[in-house]
Amino acid sequence: MAIVTLCPQCQTGFTVLPEHLSVADGWVRCGRCAHMFAVDQHLYEMDDPRPVQEFTQPLSRPSQNRQSATPVRKTPFPLWLWMQWLLAAVFLLQLILFQRHWLAARVPELRPGLLWLCQPLACDVLPLKDPEQVSIESSSFKRLADNRLVFEGAVRNLGDAELAAPALELSLTSHGEVRVRKVITAAQLGLTDILPVRRKQNFSFTFSLEPAVSVDIDGFKALLFYP
Ligand SMILES: [Zn+2]
Repeated sequence: MAIVTLCPQCQTGFTVLPEHLSVADGWVRCGRCAHMFAVDQHLYEMDDPRPVQEFTQPLSRPSQNRQSATPVRKTPFPLWLWMQWLLAAVFLLQLILFQRHWLAARVPELRPGLLWLCQPLACDVLPLKDPEQVSIESSSFKRLADNRLVFEGAVRNLGDAELAAPALELSLTSHGEVRVRKVITAAQLGLTDILPVRRKQNFSFTFSLEPAVSVDIDGFKALLFYP
């Protein structure tokens, strides 16, 4: 049985002598490829001590030579890998910020986190505007006393994402001709800023008309839109 060491670079075997372990803190230079390594980290027992080759001189100046040998030793998590992770994280963050409106609309639970991310960057997380996905579900027109009129109904978000509440253009007609046109904001309709997915919201808008105009009105058209 003999104690041997193998050069980690060229796999040449060497017999280990006590002096190899004591001189230069056990740092040696491989006689074949000149690689430097710590003997005590590459020790093996062998029945047949044939692979005997010779080290060149054990290192004489341990501190300086060890420094030059250090890069050969494996670090647990190399710097370039850290850099790759960092770049990937930055890229992911950019992607999230770029798609923040869409993400918040699709996954409303993310909205608080996205708003928090936006705070230091002074960016907004706005609800999506998709006129194809909002519709007037019902609407009616009532005449109150004193030429006051009330327009009531409900809008529904038909899509799978949260949407901004739309505005409404109301056209009051007389014998098929538009007599009065009104643009009513979402807030005036009493809608919340965001229409939840597949949900309906009622609206109501009260206004007055000149008596002469009011008596003529016999119909209306309503159109949702985003300003
Ligand atoms: Zn070697």
